[in-house]
Amino acid sequence: MLLCTVRDCRQELLRDGKRLVCAQGHSFDLSRHGYVNLLQPQDRRSRNPGDRVEAVAARRRLHDRGLSQPLLDGISSMMPLAKGSALLDVGCGEGFYTANLATRFETRAWGVDLSTSAIQAAAKRYPECEWLIANADRFLPYATGAFGAVLSITARLHPEEFRRVLRDDGRLLVAVPAPDDLIELRGAGKDRVGRVVEMLEPLFITEDRRCIRTTADLDAEAVRDVQISIYRPMQAEDPRPMRLTFSLDAVLLRPR
Ligand SMILES: [Zn+2]
Repeated sequence: MLLCTVRDCRQELLRDGKRLVCAQGHSFDLSRHGYVNLLQPQDRRSRNPGDRVEAVAARRRLHDRGLSQPLLDGISSMMPLAKGSALLDVGCGEGFYTANLATRFETRAWGVDLSTSAIQAAAKRYPECEWLIANADRFLPYATGAFGAVLSITARLHPEEFRRVLRDDGRLLVAVPAPDDLIELRGAGKDRVGRVVEMLEPLFITEDRRCIRTTADLDAEAVRDVQISIYRPMQAEDPRPMRLTFSLDAVLLRPR
């Protein structure tokens, strides 16, 4: 299932005790919590705000308050995922959507993210899924046609790789922040979904397109967690209780 990330190797990785090894002899240790780190020296970036431990913790507290439940329900209702069909979540963060969808659809799930702190948090909370630290911008270190569904929630897109790892009858679900996402905190945002469809259209056909939206009354502490968890942290004055909109534009696609 996993492929070697050393330069252009891309050979299958096989389990050997507590390591994964390819035919060329490149090896990767399995962590104590069961995830694998496939990052190469060229993948490490100095400043990735998504990496920060505080952002991961803040996002998890928001999930734990149940704020993401309506978004999860919306995404889940769009996914025609067959029972037992493997799911890949690219840019999975701390694994909330990955693990909850796996439970709902009674399927095996794999999550990949560039952030070590996010994958550590995911592996500790959801040991039933398979977690990987890798740079998905370069290539997805999974076998061709390995997945029945690929998910990308507010993550970077890699259309060719999404298509390669997806089965011919698989489905791709992409969600991006809608223009009114957190509008109370940061004003109206860009309409990104048109660009997403344009990027994916050479390889995929759009089957469904929805806006998944919820509002919630948050106390000051939760507002602060939202500020910490978004990629461009607000240099706002002290957070105060407020009603916030959480909004995703989601598209379901199938391979051409
Ligand atoms: Zn190798």
